[in-house]
Amino acid sequence: MAGIDTAVLADWVSRFGAAVAEKRDWLTELDSAIGDADHGANMDRGMSAVGEKLAAGTPATVDELLKTVGMTLVSSVGGASGPLYGTFFLRMGMAAGAVSELDGPALAAALRAGLDGIVARGKAEAGDKTMFDAMAPAVDAFDAALAADSSVADAARAAAEAAAAGRDATLPLVARKGRASYLGERSAGHLDPGAASTAILFDTLADALAGSAG
Ligand code: ADP
Ligand code: MG
Repeated sequence: MAGIDTAVLADWVSRFGAAVAEKRDWLTELDSAIGDADHGANMDRGMSAVGEKLAAGTPATVDELLKTVGMTLVSSVGGASGPLYGTFFLRMGMAAGAVSELDGPALAAALRAGLDGIVARGKAEAGDKTMFDAMAPAVDAFDAALAADSSVADAARAAAEAAAAGRDATLPLVARKGRASYLGERSAGHLDPGAASTAILFDTLADALAGSAG
């Protein structure tokens, strides 16, 4: 099996940035319903800054790459999503360590560490109507697929499907974290913007891993 090296991970990050730019207006529209209409702009600003950083060259090790992404997001995005996504990538990098590539279980452990970092930072629980509601099922699905002997590419596609289902399941929820929680019951009937961007994160991971990792 070909390993998941820094080029594959940089391709993921680049695909995520391109998809965020493409879906920027939609993400902002979602945030205009239950937030302050800046989620698309926040994510696009952050991922554009990441793109500029990485244009100088892909770092040699997985931890260096992911930590660069995380630190750039933390420092360039003012909204809640910057520190949360930033922490996700930083914790992924710390879990991965100074290696040149990951195998499936190592990627699974890094994704789990990223999710745990978001929880440590934002204290979200299942059903709070946040990015957690897309990310937790995605990471669980990735683990379950690997445990069932799926390829890394198939596991990533299963994770992307679980993230999309988790995003859709935020529609009827009443927000209990973040700005949307200020709306109380009026937050129901809208998708959570952060769950929507997280579904994009896992969709682009599946695209980047398709065919390149066993
Ligand atoms: P802000 O809310 O500061 O304007 P964004 O609009 O960029 O930041 O991001 C909003 C998204 O952040 C929400 O849709 C939600 O998914 C996520 N979010 C907010 N607070 C939390 C939290 N405590 N834990 C997890 N995710 C959160
Ligand atoms: Mg916002």
